Amino acid sequence: MSFQCGNNNNMPHYFIWTIGCQMNKAESHRIAGYLTSAGYEVSVTPQDADLIVLNTCVVRKSAEDRVLGTLGLLKGLKENRPSTSVLVTGCFVDSNVEELEKRFPHVALFFKPGDYSELTDWLHRSGNSPLPFPLPSRERVKVGVLPVSPSPCAFVPIIQGCNNFCSYCIVPYRRGREVSRPMEEILCEVEELASRSTREVTLLGQNVDSYGHDIASETKQPPDLADLLTRLNDVDGLIRIRFLTNHPKDVSLRLIKAVASLEKVCQHLELPVQAGDNEILKAMRRGYTVEQYRELVHSIRADIPEISLSTDVIVGFPGETEQQFEHTFALLREIKFDVVHIAAYSPRPGTIAWREYDDNVTSEVKKMRLNRIETLQANIAAEINSKLQGNIMEVLVEGQKKGKWYGRTRSNKLVFFESSDRSEGSHLGQLVEVRIQRTSPWSMQGELAVKSYA
Ligand code: SF4
Repeated sequence: MSFQCGNNNNMPHYFIWTIGCQMNKAESHRIAGYLTSAGYEVSVTPQDADLIVLNTCVVRKSAEDRVLGTLGLLKGLKENRPSTSVLVTGCFVDSNVEELEKRFPHVALFFKPGDYSELTDWLHRSGNSPLPFPLPSRERVKVGVLPVSPSPCAFVPIIQGCNNFCSYCIVPYRRGREVSRPMEEILCEVEELASRSTREVTLLGQNVDSYGHDIASETKQPPDLADLLTRLNDVDGLIRIRFLTNHPKDVSLRLIKAVASLEKVCQHLELPVQAGDNEILKAMRRGYTVEQYRELVHSIRADIPEISLSTDVIVGFPGETEQQFEHTFALLREIKFDVVHIAAYSPRPGTIAWREYDDNVTSEVKKMRLNRIETLQANIAAEINSKLQGNIMEVLVEGQKKGKWYGRTRSNKLVFFESSDRSEGSHLGQLVEVRIQRTSPWSMQGELAVKSYA
């Protein structure tokens, strides 16, 4: 969960509550940009806000429960302060908005994720925009909706929605079919971010490998992610480019070559495998086999030896037997990912798996399988990271925590380091070289070796 904090004056104030994926966080930053353009200022607490936006996630039941809990709390807040408007966006907003409006009458507007025109229409309609405020356009992307002082690392959505319909996933029902942003618009936004001191961008999409297929091109093939990376690689001031999430069935040879050859593109891929058993993969409707996944990893590692790989795994999918789980366990032990995000299956109403399969793996068994993978992965990550001890690594500094500076390497390793220079802004946004002194499965500690000039 995150929210923006700010100051007090006579302007109306907003508060944004965000849970879920990076896409939600990126969208919350954009909503904050629109509200700032409309004359709002950020509020430290929801209690002092005139406008509260919930940016929601329902990808797991636990996330949906948090959304419902927060909506309940806001009902009480609204009773005490009726002038406050509550808006809801994110994956909680399904196609049956009328039903949502009946269930939650204290919410003034439900709008689909990424549909900023609904938000701006509402601001106009309701008279809640203190400043004259034009509807979003390409020009406004350039000047209006980006933070005035973006952080050194920014998220940039490049494609909305998903066409895949994996059997367990609610995303295509809530975010709709894939829609790519025009390449020129993304370029314009990244140039603007770089001119405002952003050094690294992470391109976001539910499936970034689909980028461009829906963009009409009269002269040639539609653009793809490799084309976009090639254009962004030339943006002045930008020093790193990342992207997520990939779909293993869609990663192209062109993309692998682009990552291998473009100097600003980081050597890190998010490549969700989800299971290491072909029957389970088929029931998940993932569109690849274990053999194809393994082959893809071999090709990537052959072309980019320094690549770091993250993956996602779901344990306890309906019908997952002990042996099928062991196949997943063995694949993780074989591939040795840098990071594994593990989740226990929870049925999402409306999905294919919810309709067609019994959630018949007990929660005890799911928990046991989850724990086994967590332990395995902690050992693997500890082993991988320990090999970096003594190395000098290039770190882009993102901020300070508990008296230490922190940032990430090109391979997405989190590094903390001490520096006598703690004044705000002294290292922020800089590339520094850090000698790694201690490692753990999750992060590394080091000391400043040579301060660079970026
Ligand atoms: S690729 Fe599958 S898991 Fe990912 S968002 Fe699309 S449907 Fe969901």
